[in-house]
Amino acid sequence: MRTAICPGSFDPITLGHLDIISRASKMFDKLVVAVLDNSSKQPSFTLDERVALIKKATMGINNIEIMSFSGLLVDFAKSINASIIVKGLRAVSDFEYEFQMALINKELYPDIDTVFLTSDSKYMYLSSSVVKEIAMHKGDIKAFVPNEIYTEVVKRLSGGLK
Ligand code: ADP
Repeated sequence: MRTAICPGSFDPITLGHLDIISRASKMFDKLVVAVLDNSSKQPSFTLDERVALIKKATMGINNIEIMSFSGLLVDFAKSINASIIVKGLRAVSDFEYEFQMALINKELYPDIDTVFLTSDSKYMYLSSSVVKEIAMHKGDIKAFVPNEIYTEVVKRLSGGLK
């Protein structure tokens, strides 16, 4: 049984995240989406809200579990017996940081490997912060977030639909 872990802030989940999650779910027996408890960084959505939004958006995927974690990712990975970390790579700008994290995690926990999936070209420019910026200025984020959570995210970020 091969368990992989897909970590992130998911503040909120975007179609770029969902694309990586659904592709990764087909590669492993089980995929755990691990939501980082980074409350000190003042995310726009609470941990519970972020978990609930991912659950809604991934309803159609069977071998998936949404969990939250704090502390070191490798400690959490060990605790759930995950041997693979899956990350999405958008551009060269993601690479340097992700490469560093992958090497550090390997050093801390030699049994874990990081696998990178290239972003779908449609979502290369997409990030949670871009989605928040657009929504806060009442722009339409329909093309950027999963359908199932669209209304909820708009309501929270911009105070309602136009
Ligand atoms: P963000 O960078 O949007 O704040 P997270 O910290 O939640 O996202 O990122 C979690 C993972 O999802 C990272 O590996 C990141 O590279 C990946 N990711 C985020 N957006 C995309 C996207 N549009 N396409 C592919 N991967 C993405």
